Amino acid sequence: MHEISTLTQIPELHKIEAIIKWSNKAHLSTRVLCHVPCDDDLLPVYALTLGNRAQDVPCITFVAGIHGLERIGTQVVITFLEGLLERLEWDQVLVDLLQRVRIHVLPLINPVGMFNNTRSNGNGVDLMRNAPIDSHEKTIWLGGGHRISPLLPWYRGKAGEAMQPEAQALCDFVRQEIFTAPFSLVLDCHSGFGYRNQIWFPYARSQREPIKHLKEIYYLRNLFMHTYPNQDYVFEPQSQHYLVHGDLWDYLYLQSLKDGNIFLPLTLEMGSWRWVRKNPLQLRQLLGLYHPIKPHRLKRVLRSHLILMEFLLHATLSYKKWLRKSQAPEFEKLARTLWYT
Ligand SMILES: [Zn+2]
Repeated sequence: MHEISTLTQIPELHKIEAIIKWSNKAHLSTRVLCHVPCDDDLLPVYALTLGNRAQDVPCITFVAGIHGLERIGTQVVITFLEGLLERLEWDQVLVDLLQRVRIHVLPLINPVGMFNNTRSNGNGVDLMRNAPIDSHEKTIWLGGGHRISPLLPWYRGKAGEAMQPEAQALCDFVRQEIFTAPFSLVLDCHSGFGYRNQIWFPYARSQREPIKHLKEIYYLRNLFMHTYPNQDYVFEPQSQHYLVHGDLWDYLYLQSLKDGNIFLPLTLEMGSWRWVRKNPLQLRQLLGLYHPIKPHRLKRVLRSHLILMEFLLHATLSYKKWLRKSQAPEFEKLARTLWYT
């Protein structure tokens, strides 16, 4: 068990462990990916899995808490998981659905960052700048990742050094458990950028080079927009906002191209400035920039992304039905016109 201070500083971790302890073991399996030292304690990084474990079924993964300050992502992912577990007790539709798809939830990649209220991990490294991959184009100063000092935000770690344990554990998990699936999606949940809810896809390293699966992404975006015309997400390559070195999803996506399976990592950036705009007092509190503080606003955020998550789950399961259609040559052209002209 963890120290009392750990449990009060990270109620999210407490919640994850309660879910593991009390949930039906027939539905949920758990793996500890690594332990990270924190004060006198060791904090675990968990992966929770639901659904069909066979390697050849499609798979969706919800990731959160890569940046310790962005607690809301972890809370959104936990809320989604709790809803699934609740429904598995009575909802035959979900029981049947999970025969044909696998869901991984990695709700808190950086528990020490969450304990310390920092973006970086315990070594001062920004895990989302820590992959051994460089942008070939000009990145923004500092924010694009740098090797100056762990005292500055967005630090990548030393050149040539091994990846941080949390980042390494995430990459190992993706290679072992996700790359084997014929089709997989990831939704990595963040907050702290802009007014609007945004869904980003690789690359973060290049503004000029589209990913190989551009038409598939474009088709998926259209499916979402046509199915839910009143949603307000913006769907774009991350490079339209800023370029970075060391992006974990760029790194893993490039690795996934070596075999024939399709791996599409998406990042959800929850539009947190809108809750700051409605309550400027949040600016006084660093955490407030990354997390809605008023209870009604928190509840709204916790429920508002469930439609997107449910949609991605269904799109994963049904990939054969739409992926074939996405191969028509006009979609590549339309996607390039939309995002790369
Ligand atoms: Zn983030």
